[in-house]
Amino acid sequence: MLGKMMHKQLTIGSLIEHAGRFHSSTTVTSVETSGETEHVTWGDIDANARKLAAALGRLGIVQSARCGTIAWNNRRHLEIYFGVSGGGYVCHTINPRLKPEQLIYIINHAEDQVLFIDTTFVPAVAQLRAQFTTVQHIVVMGSKDADIAAQIEGVLFYDDLLDAETADYDWPDLDENLPSSLCYTSGTTGNPKGVEYTHRTSVLHTIGGNQPDGLALRARDTVLAVVPMFHVNAWGTPYMTAAVGAKLVLPGPHLDGASLAKLIDAEKVTVALGVPTIWMGLLQGLEETGCTAESLERTIVGGSALPTVMIPTFRDKYGVDLVHAWGMTETSPIGTLNQLLQKHNELDAEAQAKLREGQGRPMYGIDLRIVDDGGAILPHDGETQGNLQICGHWVIDSYFRAGETALTEDGWFDTGDVATIDGDGYMIIRDRSKDIIKSGGEWISTVELEDIAMSHPDVAQAAAIAAKHPKWDERPVVIAVKRSADVTEADLLAHYQGKVASWQIPDRVVFVESLPLGGTGKVQKNTLRERYEGILLDS
Ligand code: ADP
Repeated sequence: MLGKMMHKQLTIGSLIEHAGRFHSSTTVTSVETSGETEHVTWGDIDANARKLAAALGRLGIVQSARCGTIAWNNRRHLEIYFGVSGGGYVCHTINPRLKPEQLIYIINHAEDQVLFIDTTFVPAVAQLRAQFTTVQHIVVMGSKDADIAAQIEGVLFYDDLLDAETADYDWPDLDENLPSSLCYTSGTTGNPKGVEYTHRTSVLHTIGGNQPDGLALRARDTVLAVVPMFHVNAWGTPYMTAAVGAKLVLPGPHLDGASLAKLIDAEKVTVALGVPTIWMGLLQGLEETGCTAESLERTIVGGSALPTVMIPTFRDKYGVDLVHAWGMTETSPIGTLNQLLQKHNELDAEAQAKLREGQGRPMYGIDLRIVDDGGAILPHDGETQGNLQICGHWVIDSYFRAGETALTEDGWFDTGDVATIDGDGYMIIRDRSKDIIKSGGEWISTVELEDIAMSHPDVAQAAAIAAKHPKWDERPVVIAVKRSADVTEADLLAHYQGKVASWQIPDRVVFVESLPLGGTGKVQKNTLRERYEGILLDS
């Protein structure tokens, strides 16, 4: 080599350092658990994150030790993201809606040394604490409180810890291959599995996931992260907004449509990110509150399939562009995002909207393929369905403490999703392999049946499941929530006529008050299956 370029480590500390140096006066808005709204700046976040890193060192926490969080999206949680990872520890975000036995499992499996908790979770943690085998310090995210101190012996208070430090802590120059954060999958079957990201994979995801045809967040945006910070690092938004210096809005515990609508108007949010159920709620919230969401330009929707009727509703009523994205905990999470190509410029609005209903294309850094059950690679023709596999710079190799690789022999990760990919690389998720309905040897997509149900004006939400059938093994049953009391089972079944092949029309529709949602806002189909899979046998 005749010349040489610098070699800098790709670290989380470098992201917050940039935000602190070049965007220090940009606002971070945080709705606190108390209900108050706090306005701070990236400069404040950087200073506090440094103090936190110093405080963890003072507590004697060793490099790469896991520090758990059970918390909403708020300012202190953001500081913990950067202070813990930037300081060389591992930020382990925990879904607070897990069952107690799963919480205990995850905390012990991760060997968390420190546990940061929002005040909301003080009673639960006080009760479970004796079963945490490795936790040395519980830190309540707030100022000193005698009531809380009486509930958890030896508890520390976040604000006290920071008050004892100064912000002149220098971010260590960590090896980029060290772990930075840890997330567990929701574990709908069996125990949850941990995915440990490194500084390098997180920074590459930050840069790669935020390309112009990716999330495309920029300094002029005001970004509302509705997706929880305990769900795959809020899809990377804390890191991306720090990297570009966007204004970040953290909504706290109340994610109902009315609260979000008011927050969007008050903070002039331009981009918001969350799962479809959140946006269904927002549409209702906008109507209830009379908020206009005037500032909102686009929402990034992922985590489960986007009901296609939402695209024109948001576009025509509120001028909001819905951008569909797909990913998973194992992929940090951004795998694909749906944006158009140059050759689509000439298409009319309807044809463009149609193309954007799917989950989109991989960006630089990610590769996709589909294979059959024997592992043979299938064509990208937009028709052939196969098991979706992925590889790339921010994709898992092995689960936390699993010892063995999770990849195929040739280095791909099998997503558990069934998809088609067309000649331009547009991917459509047809189903999760464990949800898909196998009727008489033929596959029926639950995603498609749900989308049709939700296109009925009187249906608010729907989930399709496989019910056991004496002749066909499995047949589709739709569990739905009414928007209007008038709609009947026969109406909804009639709505399927001509939209799918006649043998794909559901056997039954059951109306319920609400669908069971998991902690991340996704419909829990396993719960529905347990309840309704025998419904066709009984009759
Ligand atoms: P879990 O749902 O198990 O908690 P993840 O949050 O990692 O885990 O979810 C990943 C899964 O969510 C994907 O494998 C896929 O089945 C589903 N998913 C994510 N985004 C979409 C989308 N846009 N459309 C359909 N399914 C999606």
